[in-house]
Parts: sequence; structure tokens; C-alpha cells
Amino acid sequence: MRYISTRGKAPALNFEDVLLAGLASDGGLYVPENLPRFTVEEIASWAGLPYHELAFRIMRPFVTGSIPDADFKKILEETYGVFAHNAVAPLRQLNGNEWVMELFHGPTLAFKDFALQLLGRLLDYVLAKRGERVVIIGATSGDTGSAAIEGCKHCENVDIFILHPHQRVSEVQRRQMTTLFGDNIHNIAIEGNFDDCQEMVKNSFADQSFLKGTRLVAVNSINWARIMAQIVYYFHAALQLGGPARSVSFSVPTGNFGDIFAGYLARNMGLPINQLIVATNRNDILHRFMSGNQYVKETLHATLSPSMDIMVSSNFERLLFDLHGRNGAAIAELMDTFKQGGGFSVEQERWTEARKLFDSLAVSDEATCETIAEVFAQTGEVLDPHTAIGVKAARECRRSLDIPMVVLGTAHPVKFPDAVVKAGVGKALELPAHLTDLLSREEKCTVLPNDLKAVQAFVSQHGNRGKPL
Ligand SMILES: *Cc1c(COP(=O)(O)O)cnc(C)c1O
Repeated sequence: MRYISTRGKAPALNFEDVLLAGLASDGGLYVPENLPRFTVEEIASWAGLPYHELAFRIMRPFVTGSIPDADFKKILEETYGVFAHNAVAPLRQLNGNEWVMELFHGPTLAFKDFALQLLGRLLDYVLAKRGERVVIIGATSGDTGSAAIEGCKHCENVDIFILHPHQRVSEVQRRQMTTLFGDNIHNIAIEGNFDDCQEMVKNSFADQSFLKGTRLVAVNSINWARIMAQIVYYFHAALQLGGPARSVSFSVPTGNFGDIFAGYLARNMGLPINQLIVATNRNDILHRFMSGNQYVKETLHATLSPSMDIMVSSNFERLLFDLHGRNGAAIAELMDTFKQGGGFSVEQERWTEARKLFDSLAVSDEATCETIAEVFAQTGEVLDPHTAIGVKAARECRRSLDIPMVVLGTAHPVKFPDAVVKAGVGKALELPAHLTDLLSREEKCTVLPNDLKAVQAFVSQHGNRGKPL
């Protein structure tokens, strides 16, 4: 499989190189040159497979040429073996024909484990083969950091540095990062906000001289391998609900358009999906595009669903690329306009094409809490605020009651107790068994000023399993 850039100028890469790449050299994002396509009969024959075996069948075409089948199978079995639920991504029924797919049974209790548990293992496999080491520098406002550290903590050939804004992430989220020890794990609290952290990561990719030749790898959702891993659970859910003979719809709490883009790919690979709902919080750039064909940056608002607090959705470029007939020059031009502060609209027929599949809703904090309370009253289930946004959007935007609606349950409610308390749900939430002593564990973290040079100096001092690069 070869991968090409959405902006048309960077060289095509194989899977191994795309795994180790960040942005393409032309500023674009990598996508498969040709998407594999499965027949309905083929998909139907996968019914009842354990999660890791289904994952093997779906992801195999993406890695051919880079990872032999037997090795890939073993990696997938290990990856999904760490999930605390035997079904890995179980479905829970909320209402007639309405389901939540629980994607929070991984080590850090959010769906990001599906991709980052795999990414860590893939990196270690590829790096061992090449005899290379890499450094990861990532910024997090919460969920990504812990999932990335959990995914990479056993990697022999990876040193991971996670920047979070000092005193601006929740205690549970912070402790999920800072209580993991290892000479290749480095938590840095920056005396600044999340944007400052992200800016430092961006600048480190732009000038890597401080790494003295060691390669820098991206773990945010621009990394293709993350998207790839998320395609699997769309098939998994559909197969349990009568697919592919019957089509299924999904409602996806969305920030960077990564998770929902994986659903779009599942459909293009042959899975009958009737409707994909883009569910956002007040940071609604995607909803404004889907409802009114306006892609315009606005100011950032802090909400009760912080993992979706974004101004710009990086993976949206991948959808735009397809909507423009995979014309890289057109995307480069659009993104240039956007960067210069302008927003954009796309031509009417391209927007209409997107709207055949996608609907959207922006959900306020108030409506989020109302939905948590409503679902608790109806079912006794406590939803996390991100998942609640998905449920609200599913109920508002659903096209057909006859088609099963699956809401992606992106996090465990215990990660976001503020929203649950605000919703007036009186049920005490408990941390799962492997995390019960989280609040009393020892923490390790370095506080650094909001200064790029200080951070880069720290990385080069510690980037080789705690020793200088
Ligand atoms: C990251 C995250 C999201 C948003 O996912 P995207 O792929 O960025 O759209 C939603 N919910 C939770 C809990 C998350 O951690």
C-alpha cells in the first residue's frame, strides 16, 4: 500500500514510512492511495470473529509490504488483549434501536487507547527491525497524553515527552500520565495553556536540530495509523446489529474529525452506513460547515467536554481532499486561504455530496447535562459528557428509526466527574479495578516555563532513556 499527501506535492510513502512521518513535507496529511474494498459476502463472513481477528482482516491491506501477516496478527492479539472487557468494544442498548458502543475499556478509559495501544506496538516493531530510535513529543489537554504514554511505555526504541498545561488538566487526567514511570517516559507541565504546548510541538517539528539526528514522530490524529485502527470498530458494531445485510448509522462526538473520518472510510471500504452524525460541543466549526457550508475559525471556548475543545479540525482536510476529487493543488489553495485568516465555503455540489452522508449538531453544556440526566433516568446508565453529546445529536438528527443508531461512547464517565455532578446524577462513580489507587500513587513530572528553548534543552538532555541524545 502506498500513501499520498492531501496537498499533492510530497513523495508517496509506504506504511512504514507513513507510520514514522508527521505532516507530509508539503504540509498535507497522508491518506491511502487506493482504499481496499470488501464485498458484502466477505464482510458477512467475519460475523462472530474476535475483535483482534476482525482487526487483522480489515487492516491487513494497509500494512502489506511492511509487516508480515504472522507478526501483524501477534501485534493485534496483544494490543486488544489489554482491554478490560472481553468484547473489547461492547454495545449497550439505550433505547429501541439505539446503542452506545463502549470504547472506554482500554487502559486510560477513552477511545484513544484503540489507536495508541496499537501505534506503540507498531512503532516498536518497525524500529527494532530498522535498528532506530525515535523521540515523540506530544501536547495534550487530557486524553491523548495518557493514552500515548500507556501505548509507548514498553517501547524499547521510543522516548516519549508529553506536554500538558500546568494546573489546567483534571486531577484524574494528570495522574493518569504522571503516575506512569519509566526511563523513557517524560511528563512536562508547561507554565502556559494548551495552545502554547501545541505550538511548541509544531515548532519542534519545523526545526529538529535540537534532536541531533534522532527522528521525531507524531502521535496526534494526523498520524495515519491512528485513523486506520479506528476503522475496525465500525465494522465490529455493524456486524452485531445485522450488518452488512442491513445498514447502520453512527453518531460520533467529534473534535479533530479523526474518529468520524474512520467511519467515513469504513463506508468507502464497503460497509453499508446510512448516516454519520458529526456531534460537536460549542466549538462547532464542523457543525457550521455541515449545516451552512462555512469553514471559519472562531474563538475557543472551554466546555464540559474538553477533549473536543478545538478551533480547527486537522483531519477535516482528509475529507476535503476526497470532496475535491483528490486534487491536491485545490486543497493546498483552500488551506492557504484558511491560514491567512479567511474561512471558506466549497462549491455547492461538493457540499451537497458531503451532506448525503453527514448530518451535524452542536450541543451546549446545558443540553449535555440534560442528556446525561435524561439517559440516567431512562436507563440507569451514566454517560460521560462527550458521549452525551453524541446521544443528543443522534436523537435530534436521526433520519430513520428503522436503522440501528450507534453512538460512539468515547470516554468513561469517571474521567469527567464535573459534568456528571452538574447533571445532578447522584450515583457515585468508581474508578475501574486497575486504577482504584490512582489518587494515592506517587507522581513524577517536570514543570518548565513557557519557553521553547527550555523544553528543547530538556528533550535533548533526556531523550535517550533519560540520558542525553
Ligand atoms: C479525542 C476525543 C474526542 C474527539 O475525537 P476526534 O477524533 O478528535 O474527533 C471525543 N471524545 C473523547 C473522550 C476524546 O478523548
